[in-house]
Amino acid sequence: MKPLVIPPEIARELLEGAQRSPAAEVCGALLGTNSVVTDVFWIDNVAPNPAVAYRMDERQFAGVLTASLPEQRLVALFHSHPAGDARPSPLDIRAWSYPELPMVIVSPRDRTLTAWMIADLRVSDVPILPARRASGQDIPFTTAGRMAVIVSAVTAALLLILVSLSLLPPAPPIP
Ligand SMILES: [Zn+2]
Repeated sequence: MKPLVIPPEIARELLEGAQRSPAAEVCGALLGTNSVVTDVFWIDNVAPNPAVAYRMDERQFAGVLTASLPEQRLVALFHSHPAGDARPSPLDIRAWSYPELPMVIVSPRDRTLTAWMIADLRVSDVPILPARRASGQDIPFTTAGRMAVIVSAVTAALLLILVSLSLLPPAPPIP
């Protein structure tokens, strides 16, 4: 199963948006390129019972693709389970009509995001990966940072040697 790549800032936006709506499911579309999500498109939930279901506003949904950039595709649809876990409900499975598109479920309660493929009532989970490193911007250490890590590792090793030398038993007397 091809993983869905959701950068940490997008995962945070989804969780926070779901958290702000404890009484109604939130929903929308995830846009991106090559299964890498780059944008969240929030859509009003117009279900008559939004606490336990969602229905995306059709006009807004139709606007997703016109609002997207030429290189962007619809890569997933999402909704939240305000008080539940991030697994598809029986209704989610029955009502899903996008066999080629992952369903992302946000559980603010569990602070979890999951993704699923649902086709012919069969459900399989899609792994979610954090974003790949792009153009050096989220490589964890700068050169200076890396030097600092090396220097402190060397210092720690030297200290360890000094400490273990000082703990060695005294040399036996030479006869
Ligand atoms: Zn659901």
